[in-house]
Amino acid sequence: MKKIPRVLIVEDESAIAELIAVNLRHNGFAPVWAEDGDSAQRELDAVLPDVILLDWMLPGQSGLTLARKWRADARTKAVPILMLTAHGDEPDKVAGLDAGADDYITKPFSTQELLARIRAVLRRRTPEQAGESVTVGGLQLDPATYRVTWHGSPVKVGPTEFKPLNYFMAHPERVHSRSQLLDRVWGDHVFIEERTVDVHVKRLREALGEAGAMVETVRGAGYRFTAASALLRA
Ligand code: CA
Repeated sequence: MKKIPRVLIVEDESAIAELIAVNLRHNGFAPVWAEDGDSAQRELDAVLPDVILLDWMLPGQSGLTLARKWRADARTKAVPILMLTAHGDEPDKVAGLDAGADDYITKPFSTQELLARIRAVLRRRTPEQAGESVTVGGLQLDPATYRVTWHGSPVKVGPTEFKPLNYFMAHPERVHSRSQLLDRVWGDHVFIEERTVDVHVKRLREALGEAGAMVETVRGAGYRFTAASALLRA
């Protein structure tokens, strides 16, 4: 059960936005369209997407300004940005990347090229969505088969705990605040309270048994998934 990646399309030309949205939907993505920076911001405030397709030429704030703004914002700074540009020249591409875009794609582009770029940025920025098996310490998780093993022995982890575990393991040795976990794991900070994160983490630890010690509480900050505690005991 892979999460359907949500793609925010920020594009003022409705014909282009619609074409992109149809193609994304056909290929297993959930597209959302915003026609300018303000409506894109409202979307971002409500639900954090997995990737942003950002048109360069927009009415009001330009794509470049928006990319800079979202990169500087703690809530949005980890969301991959793919710039859509009609300019093919180097200085613009460099400016886009300098502003914090992960990649750019020049109009007109083929659907296949767009999909390949989206998948590439998703793989780079959110490895837990690439569906690849991940190992930390003696713990192994395979998103394709939903299997978790601890030193080769199967561990029973329910679907609710599997999601945060997948995220933790894809981003080990890093402190995650509760609000970051809400955004990145559940994708919508509006409907889940922060203390729900604690409940899920508690259940995850219980499900993991001995390996549960890898989920550390970082006082006043959040949680960290670490192989260090497991290594100490081994
Ligand atoms: Ca435009």
